[in-house]
Amino acid sequence: MEAPDIFSAEDLISNPARISSFAPPVRLGVIGDPVTHSRSPVFHNAALEACGIPAQYAKLHIPPERFAESVRALPKAGFLGANVTIPHKAAALAAVDVADDYARASGSVNTIVVVGEKLHGFNTDGPGLSRAIREEFGVDVRDLRVVLLGAGGGAGRAIAVQCARERCERLVLVNRSLEKIEALKKELAPLFHSEHLAGPVERLVAIPFENEALRHELENADILINATSVGMSRLDPPVISPSLLTPNLLVYDTVYSGGMSRLIEEASAAGARCANGLGMLLHQGALSFEIWFNRPAPLEVMRRALLSTP
Ligand code: NAP
Repeated sequence: MEAPDIFSAEDLISNPARISSFAPPVRLGVIGDPVTHSRSPVFHNAALEACGIPAQYAKLHIPPERFAESVRALPKAGFLGANVTIPHKAAALAAVDVADDYARASGSVNTIVVVGEKLHGFNTDGPGLSRAIREEFGVDVRDLRVVLLGAGGGAGRAIAVQCARERCERLVLVNRSLEKIEALKKELAPLFHSEHLAGPVERLVAIPFENEALRHELENADILINATSVGMSRLDPPVISPSLLTPNLLVYDTVYSGGMSRLIEEASAAGARCANGLGMLLHQGALSFEIWFNRPAPLEVMRRALLSTP
């Protein structure tokens, strides 16, 4: 019997036997609100099939007020694990029994593993972004001077932690609400401290979301990463003034909905090398698969499935 595309909190909590009754049974899923747009089922189902794993990956539309009880229902419903997306990633950190060190530092969980009755939390967003940048631009994060827009958001924080743990050359945290990145800067500062490498330029700074401050930092940057939610809608204004975009920059937009984002269009027009968030989506998903099954993910199968779906 074919499983419906989307399950509700009610399905998960009140009727767990039904979820296991499909062939193959639903054992994984992405929990979000909204979740209709999610492209994760497409590539995870392709991966499950390619690996001969008798399980399906579904969408779970769960509102914030039912999130905690819904994730607690995962073991009883026979789930092996789940992904968590907007707006639940911070709540997922609070809901799991054990979170790995990287998830705790990022303040959020995007991957849950069911271990008996317990839930273990991980975050693959930062490592996924790092792999995507290596693949798209042929460089490692550790060799880059990074300007990170939206560093105070969920994805932004995970990316900032990743850049810091890779000891990138320089990290400029940018956020509309400055207090969020002032706190983050304090947390990350020890990773940039080196008695031997102290130079004339501060390696970790937090700046307001303002044109002049951004212009100054971008003149000395290798890559601009957009981790704000600006650009998810085609009607959004530009996330930064196009006049700040120059041909020497790499531009990575974590936004992937709706094809080319406005930032990518404007950065391409300025002569910059650009990539959108599909690579990050693919790699964070592949890393989740590896956590669930303790085996390499069939990356090319997943990529083909992702790219062949509009
Ligand atoms: P979030 O936690 O809600 O964070 C949103 C961020 O955007 C915050 O830093 C917020 O700043 C900033 N922001 C919102 N409106 C703004 C505006 N008008 N001007 C400047 N900054 C603004 O969301 P999230 O979960 O981190 O998601 C952020 C983005 O990452 C989304 O585009 C999402 O698609 C993308 N993402 C992509 C992947 C992938 O695999 N490609 C994975 C995860 C997330 P304040 O703190 O000041 O509110």
